[in-house]
Amino acid sequence: MSELPKARIATASLAGCFGCHMAILDIDERLIELMKLVDVDRSPLTDKKRFTERCDIGIIEGGCCNEENVHVLQDFRRNCDVLIALGQCAIMGGLPAMRNAIMHSDAPLRECLDEAYITGRYIRNTTHNVPNDPALPLLLDEVYPCSQVVEIDYQIPGCAPSGDIIFDTLAKLLTGKFRGFEPEMIKFD
Ligand code: SF4
Repeated sequence: MSELPKARIATASLAGCFGCHMAILDIDERLIELMKLVDVDRSPLTDKKRFTERCDIGIIEGGCCNEENVHVLQDFRRNCDVLIALGQCAIMGGLPAMRNAIMHSDAPLRECLDEAYITGRYIRNTTHNVPNDPALPLLLDEVYPCSQVVEIDYQIPGCAPSGDIIFDTLAKLLTGKFRGFEPEMIKFD
């Protein structure tokens, strides 16, 4: 495998908990094998905030809950040949998308923020304000799966996906051998 030219990958965390990036580290010692196949460009793993070159594979954790998430995701789509949604938040919105269920209010986003910052049972917010700094990215009306914003080529399921399925999928994609997931890798009981 190490004789192939190195591919270039990038990763991003959008509306997620970083658990999927932690799962990448669960590849454990096989990371050494993986690093023989790839160089890492823009990623929290390298702390590079911008693309330095076009990438073969982009890996996205989390869905889109704000305008910055959308811009980052679109930037990844423009700069990556293959885009992977990693984990349930990227695939279907996951836990952050629970706020999509607040539909009974006339202003569901307002109701959600009020409960999170002011009225929630365990909230102790003496200012009674919702954070509203202009530097904060604007929230979207709902949390969107990545596939509703850009075209996604592959989805790796799990919350978080196992290190095994991440390594197996990447190794096979990088060597042109990916034919789908092994059944035992997508059993979660
Ligand atoms: Fe975290 Fe699970 Fe979402 Fe990954 S899929 S970002 S582990 S909540």
